[in-house]
Amino acid sequence: EALRIDVVTIFPEYLAPLRAALLGKALDRGLLQLGLHDLRDWTHDVHRAVDDSPYGGGPGMVMKPQVWGEALDEVCAGPTPPRLVVPTPGGRPFTQEVAREYAAEPWLVFACGRYEGIDQRVLDHYAARMPVDEVSIGDYVLVGGEVAVLVIVEAVARLLPGVLGNPASAEEDSFSDGLLEGPCYTRPEVWRDLAVPDVLRSGNHAAIARWRRDRALERTFHRRPDLLAALPAEALDRNDRKV
Ligand code: SAM
Repeated sequence: EALRIDVVTIFPEYLAPLRAALLGKALDRGLLQLGLHDLRDWTHDVHRAVDDSPYGGGPGMVMKPQVWGEALDEVCAGPTPPRLVVPTPGGRPFTQEVAREYAAEPWLVFACGRYEGIDQRVLDHYAARMPVDEVSIGDYVLVGGEVAVLVIVEAVARLLPGVLGNPASAEEDSFSDGLLEGPCYTRPEVWRDLAVPDVLRSGNHAAIARWRRDRALERTFHRRPDLLAALPAEALDRNDRKV
């Protein structure tokens, strides 16, 4: 069964890249279904207002609960409710592991915040009706949730069966084994005086695997020691420890 994704946003055109390239092909082939919804379709006033000033004062505007309520009641209606994903800098960090979790779901609905975010009661209300995830794509602040949705959907979609030409590529990517992937090379053998490492041209598969593993360990050690520290002891073999 294809993963169904619905996105509610005030800028549906921001999500147009989801219909391009690899994801576009996945949509055409029915491996993924996508619904884009304009939040303003659920407003009733001439200004089609979706925001109001914050209780307690302060700068910025807050997205109104009524319009989100009407939108999500309609978009999330069905025999079994979806998982509701709300991008926010204060959410749980989005990682490859979360991407794998989402790829196993039948239906995801994304609610894109703008301004200072969505009235908290919207999240509280839907949390009583369906799983609600607040997720962050990193420790920085974007203008809206749309770009976060592009990031999340792209990471999830490439894990769906049939989307990647060679499913092994997803298994060997960075993070799948808890490590960053090392460097990669293609022809020519020498480019601007820089040669491809000999071992990669040796045809010795065991030696190549060991070399790749060592480079992955090295890179992870230097750039992301936190990942290395989080690896369970049994994830490292005797040769790993020598690197
Ligand atoms: N007042 C919010 C705060 O300090 O946490 C920031 C709101 S931000 C300007 C507007 C919207 O952008 C958020 O509601 C969220 O949808 C999205 N957004 C911004 N940064 C994000 C991040 N790192 N991850 C996911 N979504 C983000």
